[in-house]
Amino acid sequence: MKQIELKAGREASVERKHPWIFSRALVSTKGIEAGDMVEVLDSEGHFCGRGYYEGGSIAVRLLTFAEGEQIDASLWQRRFQEALEARKAFGLLASPREGFRLVYGEGDSLPGLIVDLYGGVAVMQAHTLTMHLRRRELTESLATVLGERLEAVYYKSSDSLPMVEGVVDELLYGSIDAVEQVVAEEQGIRFSPDILRGQKTGFFLDQRQNRARVGELAKGRRVLNMFCYTGGFSLYALRGGAERVVSLDSSPRAMDLLEDNLKLNFGEVPTCHESVVGDAFKYLYEMEEGAFDMIILDPPAFAKRREVLRNGLQGYRKLNSAALRKIAKGGLLFTFSCSQVVGVEEFRQALFTAALHAGREVRVLEQFGQFADHPVSIYHPEGSYLKGFLLYVS
Ligand code: SAH
Repeated sequence: MKQIELKAGREASVERKHPWIFSRALVSTKGIEAGDMVEVLDSEGHFCGRGYYEGGSIAVRLLTFAEGEQIDASLWQRRFQEALEARKAFGLLASPREGFRLVYGEGDSLPGLIVDLYGGVAVMQAHTLTMHLRRRELTESLATVLGERLEAVYYKSSDSLPMVEGVVDELLYGSIDAVEQVVAEEQGIRFSPDILRGQKTGFFLDQRQNRARVGELAKGRRVLNMFCYTGGFSLYALRGGAERVVSLDSSPRAMDLLEDNLKLNFGEVPTCHESVVGDAFKYLYEMEEGAFDMIILDPPAFAKRREVLRNGLQGYRKLNSAALRKIAKGGLLFTFSCSQVVGVEEFRQALFTAALHAGREVRVLEQFGQFADHPVSIYHPEGSYLKGFLLYVS
């Protein structure tokens, strides 16, 4: 294995078990190519960890800090097994059809790799060239660990690796029929993820417990689910006894998927449900005051990079201010931000400004994050991205 040396005084982050090594901390990368496995040494030649070299600003991602641990199939298998155990601790393996994230990158000590499981169908997504190059051996290890449970592995990285040439989405294990036809479950709610054509791996699993909360509080309420995509929140609100649910997304295809999911759960599209293809901002500006007493705002990331943070925060302020202005008295606003670069306090500040502009009385009832199948390593706080608040508006 090639070796790579840290500059003197640059050991602190490795000592704190942070899995990233920035290029500026390295002495030289001569002879090392993206995709190479490397052993990282400190300036005195002591072992620090093993991982892979990607180039770029986050030059190395560490896979192990243990000197005795080699990077081979047994390491992948151990990592998958540990990830599975952590989900088992949460009761996620009780039903064979459950949908959940099995591998969340750094949170599961597998930087650069995502694996979502929809029943027996795994969707694998690489965020680094190295994981892309290793996709077949990762699939073999996954099959060894999951055994009979695994029906198919679909590799879906053409969106997550735009900078790597020649990435194609492809079936790596099992049959494509299994991938196309899978119906998974989330807490007894059925959904068909749009694996081949949908966003991300086909379904947003990170909102699981927040959806459950919507379901618990929706009874008798008129619910507006903004940025609904395949309708996760709407399904829970309807099951929870909402009087009326309006689901809105700018994508017509999302609306088709949502209606399929409604039929899967209720036999038909319930008469109290209305699908709207449109722009969320426009709808909020034009809608009648007091028309809804529960509103869910789960927009795409408004700030994907630190450079656009200011504009992103402005977007959250505008969106939330419009919803706060229009929500009925005694209304519940579930509001989220999935921008990694927006911190909880920054988001709270944006909501504060929005409330002030809307001129409403607002109480913070609850605070939310991403579900436990997107675990954050204590050593890698950057893994936390989803934050949300439940606001009571009078
Ligand atoms: N809440 C969803 C996930 C939201 S993903 C769930 O629980 O699964 C964000 C969605 O916002 C996408 O489906 C995208 O089509 C939609 N979107 C983006 N901009 C929009 C806009 N201006 N108005 C309405 N929908 C928008």
